[in-house]
Amino acid sequence: ALTIGIVGLPNVGKSTLFNALTNNDVLAANYPFATIEPNVGVVNLPDPRLAQLAEIFGSERLLPAAVSFVDIAGIVRGASEGEGLGNQFLANIREADAIAQVVRGFSDPDVIHVDGSVNPASDMETINTELIIADMQTVEKALVRFEKELKNRKIEASVVETAKAAQAALNDGKLLSHTDIDLEEIRELGLLTAKPFLYVFNVDEVVLQDEARLAELAALVAPAKAIFLDAKIESELVELDPADAAELLASIGQDESGLDQLARVGFETLGLQTYLTAGPKEARAWTIKQGATAPQAAGAIHTDFEKGFIKGEIISFADLVETGSVAEARAKGKARMEGKEYIMQDGDVVEWRFNV
Ligand code: GDP
Repeated sequence: ALTIGIVGLPNVGKSTLFNALTNNDVLAANYPFATIEPNVGVVNLPDPRLAQLAEIFGSERLLPAAVSFVDIAGIVRGASEGEGLGNQFLANIREADAIAQVVRGFSDPDVIHVDGSVNPASDMETINTELIIADMQTVEKALVRFEKELKNRKIEASVVETAKAAQAALNDGKLLSHTDIDLEEIRELGLLTAKPFLYVFNVDEVVLQDEARLAELAALVAPAKAIFLDAKIESELVELDPADAAELLASIGQDESGLDQLARVGFETLGLQTYLTAGPKEARAWTIKQGATAPQAAGAIHTDFEKGFIKGEIISFADLVETGSVAEARAKGKARMEGKEYIMQDGDVVEWRFNV
């Protein structure tokens, strides 16, 4: 499954957020290096369509799509020099499909800031610089190997050129995802700054209602997406029943929890979308890549569905809701038979036909 790696300086609230993500008891301690082992947390993608589907099909339960997060131990200034958590950190982060950087915006004087003061812009620069340095080292090592392989005619000159272009951009202090270099040929290097990024600002609850401040912070990371939450409140929200949680959110002027936002924006950042299936047992959202074909989408349920794919009967969610039932959608010509070439649309409601 695709996962998002959570990074950030020590004491910015990663463990607190992660506790909320897993609703378990990962140690949230007020000192640097509290999080050493990577952990995985899963959060459901909120999808109000499932409840509507369940009503139409009389489904017993709802199964939303989910996004996984890996809590990766904190980076410190100089981590890429091997001073901090170097190698294990790099190994973990390389496996992540996207990176969520938690940035401290809360001001609590009782929580020590590793650099002495709360400054989101400077914190992001510290982290991003470490990631850039790590990539520079990776590319430098690879270039030595590439030059040899080029001499032995094992690779094309374009591979070396791509690596050199990446090296130049990194030397300029750029994140590779902010350049238009086509990195396909050196994908095997797993460069960190080539991954999609998103930013999670952990702010005081009053800031959540301060539109001007939020716009300022969002501008710091654009075009990457920013999420704003109060990790302490998130960890309280997961302990509450839905009615009380909604009340707490309303009291701080929010209509969606930070975790729901994180799932939604994380999903987009990973380039994913969902399609839906429903029956008397369950109404379910399935995760696919944006642009997936019908057979690939069927493969999300079972590889045999992809191998034996024949076609799918597809009704758009909007059409299904409007007509009120599959039978009525068919009668009105809203149910389409789609074949192998069909590109899935978000919210397609599907019944697959396949050979086993
Ligand atoms: P990590 O090192 O990034 O994993 O940070 P932790 O989650 O362990 O948080 C460090 C300290 O900051 C802990 O004492 C938390 O209780 C506190 N903390 C985390 N998030 C918030 C927040 O949103 N507001 C306040 N006031 N304190 C927080």
